[in-house]
Amino acid sequence: MHTNKITTFYTKKQAITEPIGFSHSPLKPYLLMEKMKKVGLNNHLEIQSEFSPFENKDFEIAHTISYVENFFSGKGASATSNGLDWNKQFAESVRYTNSSLYHAQKYSLENPECITFSPTSGFHHARPESGSAFCTFSGQVISALKLYRDTDLSKKYGNSIKTAWIDLDGHFGNSIGDAQRHDSDIKKAIPEGFNLNPSGVGNTYLENLKLGLEKIANAILQDEIQSVCFAQGADSHEEDDLGGQVGTKGWIKAHEMVFEMIKNVSNTRKKAVPLTLSLFGGYRQDDYDSVLNLHMKNITSCLNILGGNSLVFEIEDELSSDFRKPKIVIKEQKI
Ligand SMILES: [Zn+2]
Repeated sequence: MHTNKITTFYTKKQAITEPIGFSHSPLKPYLLMEKMKKVGLNNHLEIQSEFSPFENKDFEIAHTISYVENFFSGKGASATSNGLDWNKQFAESVRYTNSSLYHAQKYSLENPECITFSPTSGFHHARPESGSAFCTFSGQVISALKLYRDTDLSKKYGNSIKTAWIDLDGHFGNSIGDAQRHDSDIKKAIPEGFNLNPSGVGNTYLENLKLGLEKIANAILQDEIQSVCFAQGADSHEEDDLGGQVGTKGWIKAHEMVFEMIKNVSNTRKKAVPLTLSLFGGYRQDDYDSVLNLHMKNITSCLNILGGNSLVFEIEDELSSDFRKPKIVIKEQKI
């Protein structure tokens, strides 16, 4: 029902080339896309790079004018409230990451059979008046509000577009709730209860996710939700430096459960559910490849479960003899 390739909104301009602090997420779009080329996963992506960057007025949908202006001019506390070093290249990249997410989500609504992918991070902790915890602007909020107000899409769907976020980053995404004090329409664009961040660890986490996915599935079938966005955070893996809900098997399972839900609902209603993927956190300082391998595993799961492919991309924990934490390595791949 969905097409066998993932439409990916990527330009090199949405990544930076030099680290600007603890989080490697601003470099991740480039690092991941390069690694996907190495294993051949890029052959299963349709790249769209001709999208325009966001202007200040786009950011003002979810943020105060003073925060937006001060961030882009690198002024005062606003420049580094995200916990990262400021530079011009990074500030410019943020215009593209936020725009990538919006264009990916919009395209999935215009072409529901095409799964879309925005290789981006750095949104879900941002607040209306500042950045926070490696996040600069609330890309999720901006995208959802723009699409909620998109009259062409409302006509096409016979309903205003309402989004559900499935956020499997290891940390609670506060930006959607916080946006209510800036624009209360966010409660309609991403209805309350549809910013799914499962709680608990291990089986409790998976059980909690299952309940959340059932709720979203019912809402799609009742036309209360028209669009699903899925953040595949790698910091929910138990070996991550800043998170840790599930081990490798549980982590893979959690992400597969999302794709299975989308597949089942699409089949039940005989109409593909618009789905957009994003990346979010993942912070291993000892081995960033572990983060990238987790993300690639997910992309492959999506291509197989929803795209009907039979790609082999197996990852496993590589135990070391010196008590260091296991790296997540590629066990086998045929792509
Ligand atoms: Zn996180």
